[in-house]
Amino acid sequence: MSGAKNAVSSERRVRVSAGTAVVLGLSSARVDARPTTAYLMTGVEDGCLYDCAFCARARSAKGRSDALSRVTWPEWPEDEVFARLVRAHDDEVLKRACFQVVRTKDYIDDICRRVRLLASYGELSVCVSANLRSSAEVARLLEVGVDRVSIPIDAASPAVYARVKGGSWHGTLELLRECARKFPGRITTHIIIGLGESEEDAVSLIGSLTDEGIMTALFAFTPVRGTRLEGAKPPDITSYRKIQAARYLLDRGLVRVSQMTFVDGVLTDFGLDRATLLEVLADGEAFRTSGCPDCNRPYYNERPGGVIYNYPEPLTEAQREEALAQLAGGLSR
Ligand code: SF4
Repeated sequence: MSGAKNAVSSERRVRVSAGTAVVLGLSSARVDARPTTAYLMTGVEDGCLYDCAFCARARSAKGRSDALSRVTWPEWPEDEVFARLVRAHDDEVLKRACFQVVRTKDYIDDICRRVRLLASYGELSVCVSANLRSSAEVARLLEVGVDRVSIPIDAASPAVYARVKGGSWHGTLELLRECARKFPGRITTHIIIGLGESEEDAVSLIGSLTDEGIMTALFAFTPVRGTRLEGAKPPDITSYRKIQAARYLLDRGLVRVSQMTFVDGVLTDFGLDRATLLEVLADGEAFRTSGCPDCNRPYYNERPGGVIYNYPEPLTEAQREEALAQLAGGLSR
């Protein structure tokens, strides 16, 4: 289904990532990789009620109002964005839309209204990523037509969560589990690597979430000016490659966490011999952006020309060799 003739009129605006604006024909900026999912952001003007130490939208952050992670988010009329989105989807340029929802007082009503409005333009797979409070909120989103919901846990351990997000890691984990039981195959979470967790924390969490049917999306911590963590370092690339590889193996059921070896929190053995491991990882898929289907988040964590943590497109032979060499540097055998 396509076209805007049945669409409800709206004078509101919505932010889209700079790369999304290019794909939608709203901007002619040059991009090195095009997003295959459209990324939209809502609630920025009201400011987030939370105060995550890594986030440019946090209560205490002093960054620019149109930035999140490394990405800038110009604002456009909602009607125009939604009409273009559906056209791009019909042309198979975009596979889905993902709303990144800043936690404001009326965030659920606002995002439900936007998803209904988008649906009035045509069919499109929609994700919502938000710090939701209950499975009832997830149910509301699914009822208005959202395909997948992400509740970002972000931190891989209770101590990191308390330090960078505040509140209860166990509470968020329990909410994710409850939602996965109630809405199987519809729940995703984000995990940021490089916030002070150990490799064992990250891999153990990914393993248990995977077992419970929760899709995991890895992000590399990215210091953003104006945030509490603006002076912290991004993760070591060898460590990141190991966690990507572990996630890939766990996601495909090729190995279990109980078969892996950790020494003082460091992953030293994947439970596969080196030749088998390198063969399984040879196509480079493990090092691509992870998460919901068709989510490639180009340059979300990377500077063009800098270290590529998550490859937004299939890896070239040179990139595969480099990623495997980075991983091999962290293997004990
Ligand atoms: S994994 Fe990608 S598409 Fe899914 S919720 Fe996260 S950012 Fe959105």
